[in-house]
Amino acid sequence: MTRDYRKGMQFLADARERLDMVAKKLKLDPGLVDKLKFPKRALIVSIPVKMDNGHLRVFTGYRVQHNLDRGPGKGGIRYHPEVTLEEVTALAMLMTWKCAVVNIPFGGAKGGVYCNPREMSLKELEGLTRRFTYEIMMMIGPEKDIAAPDVYTNPQVMSWMMDTYSMHQGFSVPGVVTGKPVHLGGSKGRLDATGRGVMFVTREGLKHISLSLKGTTIAIQGFGNVGSASAKLLSEAGAKIIAVSDISGGLFNPKGIDIPSLIKHVKRTKYKVIKGFKGPQFISDFKRANEKLFGLKVDVLIPAALENQITEENAGIIKAKMITEAANGPITPRADKILAKKKIFIIPDILANAAGVVVSYFEWVQDTQALFWKEEEVNRRLEEIMTEAFYDVLRAAKKHRVDMRMAAYMLAVFRVADATRLRGIYP
Ligand code: NAD
Repeated sequence: MTRDYRKGMQFLADARERLDMVAKKLKLDPGLVDKLKFPKRALIVSIPVKMDNGHLRVFTGYRVQHNLDRGPGKGGIRYHPEVTLEEVTALAMLMTWKCAVVNIPFGGAKGGVYCNPREMSLKELEGLTRRFTYEIMMMIGPEKDIAAPDVYTNPQVMSWMMDTYSMHQGFSVPGVVTGKPVHLGGSKGRLDATGRGVMFVTREGLKHISLSLKGTTIAIQGFGNVGSASAKLLSEAGAKIIAVSDISGGLFNPKGIDIPSLIKHVKRTKYKVIKGFKGPQFISDFKRANEKLFGLKVDVLIPAALENQITEENAGIIKAKMITEAANGPITPRADKILAKKKIFIIPDILANAAGVVVSYFEWVQDTQALFWKEEEVNRRLEEIMTEAFYDVLRAAKKHRVDMRMAAYMLAVFRVADATRLRGIYP
């Protein structure tokens, strides 16, 4: 495998540039800005794994803690052939801002292993996970830094991590990772959490632009974990999902798509795709489907697939009144400017998709107390936090006369900078 380092480097440069812009608005001390630009610590580890063919292979893994002034580190672990130290560092910084914007007592961290999990057997993945956990053990722990699933890691990987850490402590430590299966100390409501958060902030955003969920038309790009849960909960709340796209194509029905049936269909397909669903118009070329979906005259557009989907090339065709960024970074900075001119109300990713980390926080709280909540309680507390965060950001946007993205960053960076200032610099 040859690795392309440019993407991660650009990603980190962009994250630092955004911090500079926000710091200027907040008139932060340049020394403090420097402290926020660089991670607190970063660890690079070599992970030897005995492969199924008997050979030894050595993988490279990373754990980065960006800022721990507001609490222990929190952030996922990704297994991916494009993972680099720079990418993980930028993602750790984003986690700091995401935790701060929803005001949960965590700092930002992230981890990753440079590998291709699709080419590895379950046994090899288990070996990789256990040795990686051992190698980063000095950094993680329920009071220090709590891992979670990210791209190509899942509840099984979290179970292995929790078991490996626990074996070395001599007792079970469920709070070292979140996103575990419910039987192992996971939280009820985690699976739909991000989609539920998307629904809450979309509902509040609609109120702000004098609309309501009832009868509102919505188009959703991506029908995976986040897209399908958002679609389900928004349609249950009375919205009409008139278009959905995924990697297999797009479905369109101006009268509204039957979301529960579509979810059942996707579960039955081999590759978990919308293709083959009977009824609405289907476009099988996903590029053409996205183009049509983005250009629809809908009230709300929800990109819930990947980063960099709305660019300067296609931002011009968007007619939605509001965009909820369910995916991470779906709108490029240049497209952002075009959408601002069109006065489209955008709920930014660090707020819109933060409910996953909020329920991870709930999982950690439940593990720490060894007292588990009913799903209704998880959802009620989630609604409280997401609604409060939405209005915190909206108030900041009005006060500073900036858009929601800048407001979310200003609020988050201010909270972190304030914690750093109050704690002072040791020694
Ligand atoms: P997923 O892999 O479950 O789903 C991704 C979906 O996007 C799939 O339906 C896929 O077919 C579709 N897709 C991929 N490329 C596409 C394209 N070019 N056009 C249209 N559709 C395309 O992933 P997910 O967990 O739902 O995450 C989606 C986004 O949300 C990512 O940006 C992720 O970082 C972000 N996010 C996820 C969570 C979470 O809890 N899962 C939390 C915060 C943020």
